Amino acid sequence: MRQPLIAGNWKMNGSKSSAEALLNGVVAGSGGLSKTEVAVCVPFPYLHLGEQLLAGSSVRLGAQNLCTESGGAFTGEVSGSMLADFGCRYVICGHSERREYYGENEASIAQKLTRATESGLTPILCVGETLQQREAGEMEPVIAAQIDGVVERIGIEAFAGIEIAYEPVWAIGTGKTATPEQAQAVHAYIRGRIAALNGSIAEKLRILYGGSMKPGNAAELLAQPDIDGGLIGGASLSADDFLAICLAG
Ligand code: PEP
Repeated sequence: MRQPLIAGNWKMNGSKSSAEALLNGVVAGSGGLSKTEVAVCVPFPYLHLGEQLLAGSSVRLGAQNLCTESGGAFTGEVSGSMLADFGCRYVICGHSERREYYGENEASIAQKLTRATESGLTPILCVGETLQQREAGEMEPVIAAQIDGVVERIGIEAFAGIEIAYEPVWAIGTGKTATPEQAQAVHAYIRGRIAALNGSIAEKLRILYGGSMKPGNAAELLAQPDIDGGLIGGASLSADDFLAICLAG
């Protein structure tokens, strides 16, 4: 039985005061959420605030990126050990926005996954196809390449400490959500691909859905057998909406 994980991805949003209000709001409403694990992945400058305000609650802290290297002369970068030092449990790796705007690929994502696990963090590896790829019937090969390109670099055993998020690029921030059936089919495909290499890792692997998940569609998505939680962008910026999704898990 896999415990659902609902993780908020705040992206590059907020201010000190809005971050404080959002963190306090999530903590205040998190008391009754024993069935679901809850995390918020905040921008780097708000990690310290997150560490302070989430202390004593069950809500976990996460970040949205980390450096491919473990430390040293890499101006502007943030290491996995720094994130762990601020109490992070999770770090998002390979989000489609980072693939598209910052040139992340399987080689750099694999390095980030390794740096994250070395630092005691649990990475959330994002995969997903664009609309063009889906329409061209390339969804499965695209997702297979995203997974295989990482597996061949870090080994399948590493997936015992990784979560996967299936995020169809066409559904991120667009208001278009994959139907529960569409999402379930891809989640089952991902689990099957991992199972072909290691059945017990596949069985325990949490595969989250991300892409315009909101209070109104969360329950149906989360009821699918291979959907083990959600990575929530826009709706994680409202404590009420985020908590409603957490309750649906
Ligand atoms: C995301 O960016 O991870 C995401 C799922 O965004 P949204 O929920 O806004 O589609």
